[in-house]
Amino acid sequence: MTTYTQQINGDTWLVENDRDNLKISYRLKEIIAEEQSEFQHVMIVDSYDFGRTLVLDGVVQTTSADGHIYNEMITHVPLAIHPNAKKVLIIGGGDCGAAREVAKYEQIETIDQVEIDQTVVKLCLEYLPEVSGRLSDPRVHFHFTDGMKYVKEHQDEYDVIIVDSSDPVGPGEALFAKTFYQDVYQALKADGLMVCQSMSPFLNNEITAQTYGRIGEIFVHRKLYIATVPTYPGALWSFTIGSKKYHDVSIPSFEKQTKYVNYNILHNCFYLPERLQDFE
Ligand code: SAM
Repeated sequence: MTTYTQQINGDTWLVENDRDNLKISYRLKEIIAEEQSEFQHVMIVDSYDFGRTLVLDGVVQTTSADGHIYNEMITHVPLAIHPNAKKVLIIGGGDCGAAREVAKYEQIETIDQVEIDQTVVKLCLEYLPEVSGRLSDPRVHFHFTDGMKYVKEHQDEYDVIIVDSSDPVGPGEALFAKTFYQDVYQALKADGLMVCQSMSPFLNNEITAQTYGRIGEIFVHRKLYIATVPTYPGALWSFTIGSKKYHDVSIPSFEKQTKYVNYNILHNCFYLPERLQDFE
């Protein structure tokens, strides 16, 4: 099994290996669990600054300290735009943090979670409760298959589709393709909407721009919004909404139990800094 940690001066470090010119490193207390799945190397570690952390192929996916920012933003924003979502599909999201947020909506009847790698879900439910909440909700149905394949087989079915993918390398790459967004469009009902994580507009501007462009070619409405996620390279993170009908947050109030999202953030996350005005 490949080792993704290094010993430096007697300490164990995770050194992220996904970028040519930037290597973010975390000093670890311990490796909690580690498995090589059919798709990727899956590890839960305990880091000094960010607590328990999910790492896939040596790349940090979500941490106990800041995972809630990403998971709340990728779920509550689209659910504040769609006025009456009942059937939600989450693609990826094996840490279960997004599904945990969606499950806070009583009116939602079905949450289909399509994750390619069952090992991620198994380890997060057991060893990463700060993110997964040990999710156990009868409305959540797991489908362990490729999200690309799953959307092709479903038409006119979902109110909201949340694409909570890993970065566009390995199994996650297919979830950034234009054909995939076209299939997502078909899987949505006539008034449905989708959201995807569209990487850092600071460090991955070309991926953010490409994703925003592709979604704009398919959906009548598209919108980019941002949040700061400290452990993601670039920190400033983007999400792109593609919608067939609804495009504004119109809820009169927001009363879910959250740690990051509130009523003002839901409305203001669409205001973009000057250098991102091309995404307005
Ligand atoms: N919040 C994280 C981020 O932005 O880096 C990612 C969340 S989650 C851990 C991403 C999940 O997408 C992983 O568990 C991975 O196995 C899953 N995934 C990647 N490609 C997939 C595919 N083609 N179909 C379904 N799930 C996929």
